[in-house]
Amino acid sequence: MVVIEGVNKHFGDLHVLRDINLTVGRGEVVVVLGPSGSGKSTLCRAINRLETIESGTISIDGKALPEEGKPLAQLRADVGMVFQSFNLFAHKSIRDNVTLGPVKVRKQKKAQADEKATSLLKRVGIEAQADKYPAQLSGGQQQRVAIARSLAMDPKVMLFDEPTSALDPEMVGEVLDVMVGLAKEGMTMIVVTHEMGFARKAADRVVFMDNGQIVEVATPEEFFANPRSERARDFLGKIL
Ligand code: ATP
Ligand code: MG
Repeated sequence: MVVIEGVNKHFGDLHVLRDINLTVGRGEVVVVLGPSGSGKSTLCRAINRLETIESGTISIDGKALPEEGKPLAQLRADVGMVFQSFNLFAHKSIRDNVTLGPVKVRKQKKAQADEKATSLLKRVGIEAQADKYPAQLSGGQQQRVAIARSLAMDPKVMLFDEPTSALDPEMVGEVLDVMVGLAKEGMTMIVVTHEMGFARKAADRVVFMDNGQIVEVATPEEFFANPRSERARDFLGKIL
């Protein structure tokens, strides 16, 4: 579903992605771990072409990523992305946040988009708040709306970049529950997170990055019980 081959990127002198190769199959859930600055966010952003790459290729569902132009908008519609900050439209209701993309980009009728929004908001447990505005919701609720908004586009892949890092601890669980549900339903997901519970519960594979490289790829069972590299052992020693 997502095929990344030989990808390199620099920020000035900093080699931030070094020869990245990774294939994520349909319905697979890959959790990306690694220390701060290891390139996890840059990799996510490259998959969505929010960052350019210098060499290599990234393809989604057999289609190589275009550099720019109309195909890029199509690609972005196929790749849902949820960030640490929720980035909801402050002046639009929760329902309109969810229907905007389908109406503008997917050219759906408003009534059809509304119907879908209602079912998605129900799925993430926010249906009662549909007519409120983002500022009236808790962080955990806003992040669940952000997930519903991405899902409304019928993405082929969902990318999550530390979706719970900005949340108060008591709200982390409600967002992770939605993500675990998505994983169980067969969504293809790439998730950058420090939530090891999620990795253990939902990941098919763990990818450990350090210094712009993929250092280790393993099942969560293997990775947590028996990290092969010194760098992964060191990382786990600090966070577990
Ligand atoms: P964190 O866990 O802190 O989110 P990360 O693994 O997501 O870290 P990235 O955000 O991908 O790391 O950053 C990788 C490296 O690239 C870091 O050293 C960062 O300072 C640098 N970097 C990121 N974005 C830019 C940019 N736009 N310009 C210059 N350097 C950047
Ligand atoms: Mg990051």
